[in-house]
Amino acid sequence: MASSAPKEKDKSSTCTKKSVAVVGAGVSGLAAAYKLKLRGLNVTVFEADERAGGKLKSVSRDGLIWDEGANTMTESDAEVGFLLDNLGLRDKQQYPISQTKRYIARNATPILIPSNPLALIGSSFLSAQSKLQILFEPFLWKKNPSKFSEEQESVGGFFERHFGKEVVEYLIDPFVAGTSGGDPDSLSIRYSFPDLWSLEKRFGSVIYGAIQSKLSAKRENKGGTRSSPANKRRQRGSFSFLGGMQTLTNALCKELGEKDLKLRHEVLELSCSSRSKSSLLDSWSVSYASQHKKMSEEKSFDAVIVTAPLNNLKDMKITKGGKPFRLDFIPEVTYLPVSVVITTFNKKNVRRPLEGFGVLVPSKEQQNGLKTLGTLFSSMMFPDRAPNDTYLYTTFVGGSRNKELAKATRDELKDIVTSDLRQLLGAEGQPTFMNHFYWSAAFPLYGRNYKTVIEAIDKLEKDLPGFFYAGNHKEGLAVGRAISSGCKAADLVISYLNSSLHVKESSD
Ligand SMILES: Cc1cc2nc3c(=O)[nH]c(=O)nc-3n(C[C@H](O)[C@H](O)[C@H](O)COP(=O)(O)OP(=O)(O)OC[C@H]3O[C@@H](n4cnc5c(N)ncnc54)[C@H](O)[C@@H]3O)c2cc1C
Repeated sequence: MASSAPKEKDKSSTCTKKSVAVVGAGVSGLAAAYKLKLRGLNVTVFEADERAGGKLKSVSRDGLIWDEGANTMTESDAEVGFLLDNLGLRDKQQYPISQTKRYIARNATPILIPSNPLALIGSSFLSAQSKLQILFEPFLWKKNPSKFSEEQESVGGFFERHFGKEVVEYLIDPFVAGTSGGDPDSLSIRYSFPDLWSLEKRFGSVIYGAIQSKLSAKRENKGGTRSSPANKRRQRGSFSFLGGMQTLTNALCKELGEKDLKLRHEVLELSCSSRSKSSLLDSWSVSYASQHKKMSEEKSFDAVIVTAPLNNLKDMKITKGGKPFRLDFIPEVTYLPVSVVITTFNKKNVRRPLEGFGVLVPSKEQQNGLKTLGTLFSSMMFPDRAPNDTYLYTTFVGGSRNKELAKATRDELKDIVTSDLRQLLGAEGQPTFMNHFYWSAAFPLYGRNYKTVIEAIDKLEKDLPGFFYAGNHKEGLAVGRAISSGCKAADLVISYLNSSLHVKESSD
């Protein structure tokens, strides 16, 4: 796609002739490569799979459009706006109809979630006791009594201290299951909700802290930027693209060009050799498997950005100055499996269709026979995803709640999803279409010891000159976070390459 928007190009940098290898063509790797290319660097992206996009995977078939990975994203990170503007994707953005209408199942019935804390207090979603606990949280919240480091506290422990058990079971549990496949007891509050964790550090009470942060943001915005186009777009919430989320990664691939994107190139080895007399930079070489043959890229690189999941990085061999660089200090990361199940139903067979984004299912609802994690009302959000007489649903099964179920057969998954949709929406009979995709490692779990993972990434970047790591293992799982991580790694590479040139200039 030829982009219509003016592109930010800055080829003034003195590092323009340098070359960088990017490992992984998920959204973070592609964003990093795009940013480097805009700055005039030579970039080669190595991707193990036969397609680019990683966890962004859209399918268009028989008049239906669906996503098998991420379904929506937000613009909370500034780098997202930068990409959308530069790629000319603004006119392809699709905002869901009634996106503030989101439901949580209670007693096997979808209940509309109140859209703000005041509405929550006024609703009958929670018991009177939980509502009082929320109202009085600024006075009643308890300190973390655990003797473990505060960084190891779980999401469940944190929210229970502040808001009580019911909030954890009926709001936090379905939310984390639906966004990360995780469960409140395993996830780290420090790494899964870093903003809330810091609010507690600064203010104690989460509610008081949130009010204070909002007030100070308002004061800062008094200068007039509050209603800037970027802020307005951020407030519009989640979105996708015409054709699905992969429209974004397809646009990035198009900008890179076929020559610089090497599909079916699984990187096996990265070797860093010491600088030569003619260069102040260490140089990197890349070996990969292509069609079952081990090969080496002829070109050497001045820097490498790895965006492959950490478990894939651990399988690679890294050498530094001819000696093996052992990766055994990288802790095991737990990955959660998820199956994404697409079903369609004739509209006349769905007795209680709901307008809105979707319904999440708390673990507790398993006692009422519900087995899925949640369902997106995909064609309610984006009517062009299915013919007029059809509803298309996207349902998630598995996660840490039910790892085995994620691996169920097609027929088992069909039964599970059909049964849940019958209970929740009154979808009668069999779906008119069904498709499923199994992700064996859909999400890395930001577990209670995630600090050790972050420390290992820091060590890699410190001990290997010109090596940078980006992607969804660093600062969050959301697509926007992965993009931001890729763009930040590109900026670090540029500073690294520029600083080596400055050293050279001053020593000349
Ligand atoms: C089912 C599902 C639903 C989701 N829903 C949402 C959502 O609605 N909103 C949201 O914001 N986020 C969502 N996410 C999360 C989000 O999609 C991901 O966190 C994000 O896309 C990850 O991007 P990434 O570039 O970091 O990693 P990936 O997309 O995992 O890309 C890494 C790439 O590295 C490649 N690779 C691995 N090893 C090698 C090797 N040795 N050599 C070369 N290449 C290699 C892989 O093949 C892959 O293409 C969802 C994720 C899943 C799985």
